[in-house]
Order: sequence, then C-alpha cells, then structure tokens
Amino acid sequence: MIMSDTLHPAPETTSDTVLSVRDLTVSFGSADYWKPVVRNISFDVGANETVAVVGESGSGKSVTALAIMRLLPKATSRINGQILLNGRDVLDLPPQAMQALRGDEAAMVFQEPMTSLNPVLTIGFQLAEALKWHRDLSNAEALAEARRLLNRVRIPAAERRLAEYPHNLSGGMRQRVMIAMALACRPKLLIADEPTTALDVTIQAQILDLIRELQADGGMSVLFITHDMGVVAEIADRTVVMFRGDQVETERTETIFRQPAHPYTRALPASVP
Ligand code: ADP
Ligand code: MG
Repeated sequence: MIMSDTLHPAPETTSDTVLSVRDLTVSFGSADYWKPVVRNISFDVGANETVAVVGESGSGKSVTALAIMRLLPKATSRINGQILLNGRDVLDLPPQAMQALRGDEAAMVFQEPMTSLNPVLTIGFQLAEALKWHRDLSNAEALAEARRLLNRVRIPAAERRLAEYPHNLSGGMRQRVMIAMALACRPKLLIADEPTTALDVTIQAQILDLIRELQADGGMSVLFITHDMGVVAEIADRTVVMFRGDQVETERTETIFRQPAHPYTRALPASVP
C-alpha cells in the first residue's frame, strides 16, 4: 500500500470498505507536459455509507469519479496513486476485467441523463440491453426486469414508459431512468455525479429521497458528487471538500457544518434548504 504523507492520512482499509482511494493524482496533457487537476486525494467509502465530494465547478470532482471508473481518455490522462474497489486494484486491472467491474461493482449516474440515453431507442429497450449486458437474461425476462426497475425508481405508468423515447420524459423522469439503469446490475457502489444539478428543487429533493430509499432497502454505498452544500446536508454521512484539485477537508457531515475548518467550505452555496 502507498502510504500517505498528505494532510489527510486515510483510515486503514477494512473489510467494510467498498472504495478506497489513496493519494490519487490525475493529470492531463501529453509527453512533455502534464498538468495535475486532482492532487493527492485519499478517502474511503464504507459499506452502506454515503460520502459526498463537494466543491465548486472545476475543482476535480468529475475527474475523480471518472478515474475511479477508469473512464478518462487514456492518451491524454495520467493517474497515480491507488484505487481499491471491493479490494481490487482498479488501476491494475486489464480492460476486460474493468469492463466487468463497471456495473457489477460500481455504476455511475451523470448530471445530464440526455447525454447518456440514446434518443432513438425506447426506454424499455435501453434498460433491457443494460440488463442483458450484465446478466444472462432472455429478452422477455429483461423486459420484465426493466418494468420492475422502473417501478422501483417510482416511475408512474411504468408499463407505458417502456415504449417511450427519452425526449418524452421530463428531466426528473430521465434521471430516474438513469438511476434504474445504474441499478440494473445491482452495484455495490453508486457514483452519482451531480445527478440533481439540472433539476428544479422539488425534483432534486425527490431524487435524493429515492437514492436514500434505494440505499435503505438495497444495501449500497454511494459516492455523491455535488457543488451544493444543501444536497450534502441531505444525503452524506461523510464529506470530502475539494478546492482547485486539492482535498481541503474530510469529516463527518455534521462536523463540516458545525465547524468547517477551511474558509472555502464556509463559502460553498446551498440551494436545497
Ligand atoms: P468538476 O469539479 O466541475 O467536476 P472536473 O473534474 O470536470 O471539475 O474538472 C477539473 C479540471 O480538469 C478542470 O480544469 C477541467 O477543465 C479539467 N479537465 C477535465 N476533463 C479534462 C480532459 N478530458 N482533458 C483535459 N482537462 C480536463
Ligand atoms: Mg463535474
């Protein structure tokens, strides 16, 4: 294990640790010039725990999530440090093993579901394909499971929605479909990258409720990325604060609110009351 000599010595990894990030540094560039955009960050996500990563736009939150999923462009990015997902070293896995890990072990929901859903394919087809990709199901079984998932994410008239196209759904509904898609493979870790940011406050609150509910009955860890302290207060057990690529604070969420150590943390906005 790489020992951390940063300000944030991470706790020892235990069998309850689903995700362990150690001294993660991500740089972009090419042969002669690499610019670090995430510097030496370390944190853990325990079983059933929700950890928020909060910071203003450009602070390196999405890059961190994409590094964990190994979804950064190979030619122009460099990742140093260690990422353990259920004890497996993500940065050492061959691409095929990583492909299997994505979905089965960790799934991701993005800010704008329209960019992840295919506009010319029905919701039912896309869900069924996602299910078949990860599980050995017939078409009929996959469709039945897709319907069950839409019910699970509280989409009304699920039966009818299966035949609809993404543009027929509201933003909040599309985000629910994306969460259903992520749940399709029963991941141990859900990485949600600003999944409520494009939504109005009422819908945001509903999506946060949904994630909490799913977590309560499914047993799932969540890494929740946001720039909004209101969302952090609603959802996170522990919080990592990032500022321009650095990890400036990592605490239980109550502590972050009661006694923020970093002036930057105090200045972060909160939209959800
Ligand atoms: P945010 O906290 O808003 O999610 P990001 O993680 O997306 O921030 O970005 C952090 C920094 O990395 C930004 O300066 C961004 O411009 C840069 N960046 C993100 N992706 C790439 C990429 N593929 N190539 C080069 N720079 C990138
Ligand atoms: Mg982002």
